[in-house]
Amino acid sequence: LSQLFRPLDLLGMVYRTIRQGVIDMASMFALIDTPAEVVDAPGAKPLAIAKGHVRFEGVRFGYDPGREILKGLDLDVPAGSTLAVVGPSGAGKSTLARLMYRFYDVAEGRITIDGQDIRDVQQASLRAAIGIVPQDTVLFNDTIGYNIAYGREGAGRAEVEAAAAGAAIAGFIERQPEGYDARVGERGLKLSGGEKQRVAIARTLLKNPPILILDEATSALDSRTEAEILDTLEAIERGRTTIVIAHRLSTVIHADQIVVLDGGHVAERGTHAELLRLGGVYAEMWARQAQEQDEDVPGASEGALA
Ligand code: ATP
Repeated sequence: LSQLFRPLDLLGMVYRTIRQGVIDMASMFALIDTPAEVVDAPGAKPLAIAKGHVRFEGVRFGYDPGREILKGLDLDVPAGSTLAVVGPSGAGKSTLARLMYRFYDVAEGRITIDGQDIRDVQQASLRAAIGIVPQDTVLFNDTIGYNIAYGREGAGRAEVEAAAAGAAIAGFIERQPEGYDARVGERGLKLSGGEKQRVAIARTLLKNPPILILDEATSALDSRTEAEILDTLEAIERGRTTIVIAHRLSTVIHADQIVVLDGGHVAERGTHAELLRLGGVYAEMWARQAQEQDEDVPGASEGALA
């Protein structure tokens, strides 16, 4: 009788494999937000990372013709330093991350890493050099161990556990009866926003990229989770060139450089102290935030800037 059922088992397995493939594809597209349209230039070489010095030089870009989002942007992020980008919703902050990852090419100007125009290097090498911790982490319908290991192909269990510890999520995982084999998703563990972000941080720790882009979550995190995440982020930012798309005051204050993006231009740039002294847009955002915190507006995200 078991002979009779074997083809059905096989069919079931094929079905499950295909279904998982479809889920993975759907997750990937949600993750990258857009299908990759950009291709390697003929003869493109791998990116040669010396230190991770990132520059935007006169970058102009728009998604649709006739609606320019960035109108000639200059940024200089020295190797190992942290740049925080703030500005109103729709100013183009997340667009910077998409351009760096080369989901789109700039219309004018260039983006360089250690002097190499990112359009001249192999995309795979560019993307291997950049770690992104997105606002909303997409988790696969699989085990939590798999979701972390996804950061680097071939990562072993010990490395996954070390990354989980670094991202302050190891304790949470160890408390699950099935540990790293606990499934996440619809029929498994439901993770909070903060826990998902820590999974993303663990993935990034495994990937160990020289350049880091953090797209901070706008949604409110409770202050304990926020403090834990900030500590973890500080640990992964060390020694890496970091661009933070910042919504929280707490991350902005310590950045080496803050840029206020508005109307396609850099409206202000400087350190937290310099921008406060300037008494412009940034100082105003800061005062408004501080006031909101004082008033303890229900549902207001702690220290949110945008
Ligand atoms: P927020 O703080 O709300 O996240 P942001 O500063 O990160 O905003 P972006 O996501 O960079 O803003 O978007 C900049 C502008 O580009 C917005 O007006 C947005 O509507 C537009 N935009 C973003 N993605 C696309 C897209 N794929 N196609 C067309 N327009 C887009």
